[in-house]
Amino acid sequence: MSRTVIITGASRGIGAQTAREFAAAGYNVAINYMNSQDKALELYNEIISFTGNKYGCIICRADVSDRLQVRDMIKKVSDYLGPADILVNNAGISQYKLFTDISPEEWDRIFSVNVKGIFNCTQEVLPYMIRKRSGKIINVSSIWGICGASMETCYSSSKAAVIGMTKALAKELGPSNIQVNCVAPGVVDTDMNRNLSPEDIELLKQDTPLGVIGSPKNIADVILFLASEKADFMTGQVISPNGGFVI
Ligand code: NAP
Repeated sequence: MSRTVIITGASRGIGAQTAREFAAAGYNVAINYMNSQDKALELYNEIISFTGNKYGCIICRADVSDRLQVRDMIKKVSDYLGPADILVNNAGISQYKLFTDISPEEWDRIFSVNVKGIFNCTQEVLPYMIRKRSGKIINVSSIWGICGASMETCYSSSKAAVIGMTKALAKELGPSNIQVNCVAPGVVDTDMNRNLSPEDIELLKQDTPLGVIGSPKNIADVILFLASEKADFMTGQVISPNGGFVI
């Protein structure tokens, strides 16, 4: 029987590509989105046309920071596709601002989505994984959660929290045979970086040993690996596909 994966923030960017890769690998895929319904629907149609299985994919709207919306989403996924075997906590938002200009509301919103969103989704899927004594949770952090970025203090702090949560939870859930790992991408070509000018991108490439910025597929491939049996002996790890930008 196909395994079920829930991917948060899968309407665009890294999450959308991750949904394509999982679907191509034969998983049942739940595409979570918040605002981009058209893109989520487009992705759903693309996936069912190449898998030929309209029962193996659903889209579900939920703001991951809202516990009740997350609870409804997890129930809907469970009813349609079966309980989640894999959770990819990918939804995230960023901000580029001087630390002194960040408002308390902006700080709270970034932490609500990037950190509490993972808390919400993970707590809601865990009862089934614990009962089954099996499951894989993959959290998406960032290189900035490892080394910090100027003008991105709030984002960097939230992504560092994701790494801490991954490590602590890996220890707590190891005895239940649930692996919790983290992917900390470098700069990836998605909407999140549309604010960067071509000159900024060129400078980033020059500072990257491999001389390129990442594609969503580069990151999705690592997430797919962590969800597979090939990663059964890995937990609490932070893997950073970043072209060598951070070594
Ligand atoms: P993106 O293109 O901006 O897409 C963000 C996704 O998150 C969208 O699907 C969006 O859904 C969803 N989302 C935002 N807030 C949400 C919420 N409250 N509830 C549910 N979904 C929500 O970003 P991306 O570059 O693919 O980033 C994906 C993850 O990778 C993020 O965690 C990001 O921090 C991390 N990351 C990105 C980079 C990079 O360079 N791009 C580098 C390192 C780490 P809607 O559009 O439907 O609202």
